[in-house]
Amino acid sequence: MKMDIVSPTEWGFFTLPRPCVIAGPCSAESLEQLLETASGLRKTGINMFRAGVWKPRTHPGCFEGHGVPALKWLQEVKKQTGMKVSCEVASAQHVFECVKHGVDMVWLGARTTANPFLVQEIAEALSGTDIPVLVKNPVNPDVDLWIGAFERLNKCGVRKLGAIHRGVSSFQKMKYRNDPAWEMAIELRSRVPELPIFADPSHMGGAVSYVQELSQRALDLGFEGLMVECHCKPCEALSDAKQQLTPDQLHDMLLGENRLVVRDNDTDNVSYRENITQLRAKIDVLDDNLLSMLCQRMNVSRQIGQFKKDNNIAILQTGRWDSILERMIQRGTELGLSEKFVRDFFTSIHEESVAVQNRILEEK
Ligand code: PEP
Ligand code: MN
Repeated sequence: MKMDIVSPTEWGFFTLPRPCVIAGPCSAESLEQLLETASGLRKTGINMFRAGVWKPRTHPGCFEGHGVPALKWLQEVKKQTGMKVSCEVASAQHVFECVKHGVDMVWLGARTTANPFLVQEIAEALSGTDIPVLVKNPVNPDVDLWIGAFERLNKCGVRKLGAIHRGVSSFQKMKYRNDPAWEMAIELRSRVPELPIFADPSHMGGAVSYVQELSQRALDLGFEGLMVECHCKPCEALSDAKQQLTPDQLHDMLLGENRLVVRDNDTDNVSYRENITQLRAKIDVLDDNLLSMLCQRMNVSRQIGQFKKDNNIAILQTGRWDSILERMIQRGTELGLSEKFVRDFFTSIHEESVAVQNRILEEK
């Protein structure tokens, strides 16, 4: 489904086209904390402020946000700094309160996106408003569930839509708090190219030291924006203290000497265009060759299948497969290919080969 979407450059919030930056604390803790953080961000030219008012926490008893009174503080931030303000909504009631208090933009959190009932009630509550809505990827790596949320909102008339990629939860201990799962955002881009994508390097990384590298990766992938958690005194934060930058740290990341490099999506430069066209033509030829080789390989596999069937031999010969894989990984690494790539590639070929041979055995 092609979605009817208005680009963020037309939302009237982002003074610089790329990256569109949303910044502010994880949670609204007090009026003073919001005003101090916002005025620090304003100096960097940031125009869109974020602060969580209702916080979905994993365990009960943690700080769950101040709710409606914090919306009044956001109104005060707007009045005193001229910034636009945004917060997370997780129910229709949250939407009504946000509309009532003049919140300029809302987003759906990762846990909400995973629940189609909530997404539907939020979409219906937003119908008839002109508030931009960002949707975080669900906590599980399910691109369809993510796209379903955009479809529900778009069907209710929400056209100012964007995605926030924040990675997915993982049982395994990793460098980052979330598995970045960049492939989800890449898949979203290819399925809904008209949708702008923001990265959330704060929740993805879980620590201040990872925010810049993850933001750079997002810009390298062509994301339109960033949502970064910032707090005037991160060590005193009531939630996500380890991952919040100070406004000065965000300033350095965006405008300092070692600032993020913003990549263009295209250029009119003639020599770039000629070179890239030639290189892409080479890739197209190689891809055609790869397909035809794969097809030839599957045909041989089919012949082997028939031969095994005639001689009543089982399909799976693990010794043979192990030796192919070992030889290919060795050869691949000599050629400069990563072990993971070679392993994944040949495992996929092997799975298809086994499926092809299975079909032959099943034939009467
Ligand atoms: C947040 O942005 O404060 C938040 C709770 O993030 P997520 O939904 O990505 O966990
Ligand atoms: Mn947070």
